[in-house]
Amino acid sequence: METVRVHLFAPGLDAGGVPARAHFAGQSLRVERVDARLVVPAERLCVRHGGFDGRQWLLEWPVEDGSAAILLPAGADGERLLAGAPAVLAAQIDHHGRRVRARGLRFGLGMALVAVFMLLPFVLLGVYLANADRMAGWATGKVSLAQEQQLGDLAFAQMRPTLRLIETGPAPAMVLAIGARLTRDSKYQYRWFVADSPEVNAFAMPGGYVVVYTGLLRSAGSAEEVAGVLAHEVQHVELRHSLKNMIHGLGWRAVLALAMGDLSGGIWSGMAAQLGGMAYGRDLERQADLEGLKALRRAGIAPHGMPAFFARLAGQGGQVPAFLSSHPASGERLANLRRAIAEQGGYPAEPLPYDVHAILAD
Ligand SMILES: [Zn+2]
Repeated sequence: METVRVHLFAPGLDAGGVPARAHFAGQSLRVERVDARLVVPAERLCVRHGGFDGRQWLLEWPVEDGSAAILLPAGADGERLLAGAPAVLAAQIDHHGRRVRARGLRFGLGMALVAVFMLLPFVLLGVYLANADRMAGWATGKVSLAQEQQLGDLAFAQMRPTLRLIETGPAPAMVLAIGARLTRDSKYQYRWFVADSPEVNAFAMPGGYVVVYTGLLRSAGSAEEVAGVLAHEVQHVELRHSLKNMIHGLGWRAVLALAMGDLSGGIWSGMAAQLGGMAYGRDLERQADLEGLKALRRAGIAPHGMPAFFARLAGQGGQVPAFLSSHPASGERLANLRRAIAEQGGYPAEPLPYDVHAILAD
């Protein structure tokens, strides 16, 4: 009997999984934590392998509200556990084992990084927080454009019932027209939406979904200000900020699911909630501002709307709009924007042909 340290993932447990010990005894898998012991009949186990280098083993089984799994340590420890598995699992293990061994030749720095990233965080919470961010960034880099699109579709489908979308009329037409100009050369297929809500808000979702609230349109002083906001939001898609935040927010199970190529599992059901509370750090906001200014220039739209809108909101006082709490319009940020505009130099820009005050007049 070989007891091995594993990470247990199950509904109700921390999204990052919890440390446990596992071994096979007779016809079942035993998983032990400090306060609990699970006994899973071997015939209920599904053996999977994957991981970022294709050498990670996962044993999964159905539970009442979803599925549970243990992630085996890479290398010899994991293989010792599998060596004790009963005959009923032999075919599954053998099937994956050949592929795992084939990939083992590429074992190297990549795997060492996986081990560091995957195991260290569970040892120290501080290390976990620091690495979760890097891990999310790393996992984000592994997501293909098609996968990102699929995740975006899924997330928007979850969010859509909570939005009162305005699908026709001049407001969505304007947002679509300006948005299309700003994303002419993008590899994403953007979808533009206007939602009826007094909230001053706009957000972008992975894969190219952009939602603008009527509250934001009403508080804008010109179509150029709307364009400034859109140009900024688009960069959160282009630079994959929204994808990374979503993965980070969902935690380790999302990273695991991505590694396993699982884009349909229950882990993704919380995506919309993650997006709702999404805040980007100051560095990402600055990046989105600067790239947004370049997008405005490429589209031949005057850049001043972007700082004007942020300054307008910052000057309104009273309750800080949700949009601003994740896009703090500090004096420093405005100064940076104005400096970047000056450095960029002038360029020909026709005024946008939309009257933003009339567009939502009832
Ligand atoms: Zn932003």
